[in-house]
Amino acid sequence: VVDTEAMFKQGFLAEVYNERPVKPVYTRFPPEPNGFLHIGHSKAIAINFGFARYHGGECYLRFDDTNPEAEEEVYFESIKEMVEWLGFKPYKITYSSDNFDKLYELAEKLIGLGKAYVCHCGDEEIKLQRGGEKGTSPRFRCEHADQSVEVNLKKFRDMRDGVYKPREAFLRMKMDITSGNTMMWDLAAYRVLDKPHHRTGDKWKIYPTYDFTHCLCDSFEGITHSLCTTEFFLSRTSYEWLNQQLVEFQPMQREYGRLSISGSVLSKRKLKELVEKKFVRGWDDPRLHTLIGVRRRGVPPGAILEFVNELGVTTSTSIIQLSRFEQTIRRYLERTVPRLMLVLDPIPVVIEDADDFEGTELEVPFSPKDEAMGKHKIKFSKTVYIDRSDFREVDSKDYFRLAPGKSVGLLNAPFPITATSFTKDEATGLVTEVRATFDRTNKKPKTFIQWVPAESAGSRKCEVRLYNPLFKSENPASAEGGYLNDINPESEIIFPNAMVESGIEEVKRRAPWPEAAGEDKIGKGGPESVRFQAMRVAYFALDSDSTDDKLVFNRIVSLKEDVGK
Ligand code: ATP
Ligand code: MG
Ligand code: MG
Repeated sequence: VVDTEAMFKQGFLAEVYNERPVKPVYTRFPPEPNGFLHIGHSKAIAINFGFARYHGGECYLRFDDTNPEAEEEVYFESIKEMVEWLGFKPYKITYSSDNFDKLYELAEKLIGLGKAYVCHCGDEEIKLQRGGEKGTSPRFRCEHADQSVEVNLKKFRDMRDGVYKPREAFLRMKMDITSGNTMMWDLAAYRVLDKPHHRTGDKWKIYPTYDFTHCLCDSFEGITHSLCTTEFFLSRTSYEWLNQQLVEFQPMQREYGRLSISGSVLSKRKLKELVEKKFVRGWDDPRLHTLIGVRRRGVPPGAILEFVNELGVTTSTSIIQLSRFEQTIRRYLERTVPRLMLVLDPIPVVIEDADDFEGTELEVPFSPKDEAMGKHKIKFSKTVYIDRSDFREVDSKDYFRLAPGKSVGLLNAPFPITATSFTKDEATGLVTEVRATFDRTNKKPKTFIQWVPAESAGSRKCEVRLYNPLFKSENPASAEGGYLNDINPESEIIFPNAMVESGIEEVKRRAPWPEAAGEDKIGKGGPESVRFQAMRVAYFALDSDSTDDKLVFNRIVSLKEDVGK
């Protein structure tokens, strides 16, 4: 059982609550719908939804949709789905754009208070006003700051009415340019943008900025604790400043450290390039750390929550090695998924004296550790398939698997087998068949290997995709020749002719594994929730490319760190 609440009991988030120990608590997760969520966002989701849940409150899912240039419908849907997949239910789904009218009125109110002015300066002029190239010359305000309230109101309405083209005018807050905090240097509140909005259509030609919108929307929704990442630390001052000018209810903003994974890229621009240049299978490629990619790979939502919890929450950025993420997933799967036998590169072994066991049903537990997972049946057949790597044409003393004259155990089978002979394809040099006999002497073999019975006994052919890190280096963004030059040629290794035992049918029927995951609660585990440990091979999940006729499996993680091809 995962304690996904540890992070609220002590440390940074406990202190945040103690600063404002109110009930009920209201929080929000405020993504900009301009891309797919990535693993870093799972931290924001776990924190915001978890904090509210822990304190008996509620969390909004608020789409911060104030920039129509970058937003698309598919992102809204995907973000909603990912929040649910992680096991959270938004109190309400809201949109910053729902408040465009209200925000506009408050902008006029701010002008009326003499705290905002319409400015016509360009980027260069603004830079000079803010202390020049090095930021060392004296700061000053432009002449627009001296306009009367009436002039500002008239110009702002002109902005609204389409009199100005983009960049010809913008509304600026009159803050405190003497402050040491750059976020108090008369920030933009509204800009002219000639773009239709996906919700408000072409009603608006001006759109509010993040700095104007976020704090006010937090106040409208009664957000008690507004939790965001540390790059907003300086913005806290402007956040409080604006709310104090305009609204009654004062939310409290606090900042935590971002989560990022080394050896991966998360930036939208880079992901887009990887997808468009077909280095990966799509935005949900199992090697990407988009949440849809991580999900497709088969990582259970519970393992992600456990990961975020283990890392804990502080104000410093966590750059976590991929191997640490995988270690958490591995530990989680170890105790939550059933075991099956799968052979990546099968070669047939004919057990010549096994007639008495042909068709016998062997009863096999899904887990040696957890009886509650139950048992399933494997039908034995005279011809079994083992992995090519478990047979050697020439035996040696330090080798303990199958070779001519040598015995090896077959997991769950009646007896070990001893190889007697083998045949080879002359052209390829590959072994095509091994002949063997049962070793009925009751000597315990040194090694047991996985195997599957013949297809006639219920085994199924499948395609297996082994995933390794997408990049060769820990820091692909600064790799020589760029991250596209750093792609690991072995990031995806395909075994097209693998075989899995018939137990897969029940594992499919009973998915999602683990049964207590978020995907179970929302009642729609996808193919990726069919997870199992292939004994001696790796952890796998069913891929979305699978059909009734063709099974495709993704390696979620290897069985041990740094093991596997
Ligand atoms: P990105 O540019 O990577 O998409 P963002 O900051 O633009 O990130 P938003 O979509 O605006 O992301 O983010 C929604 C929420 O998720 C914000 O509160 C943001 O601070 C938080 N968030 C984004 N990235 C991370 C991260 N790597 N770790 C923790 N929280 C994050
Ligand atoms: Mg953003
Ligand atoms: Mg974003």
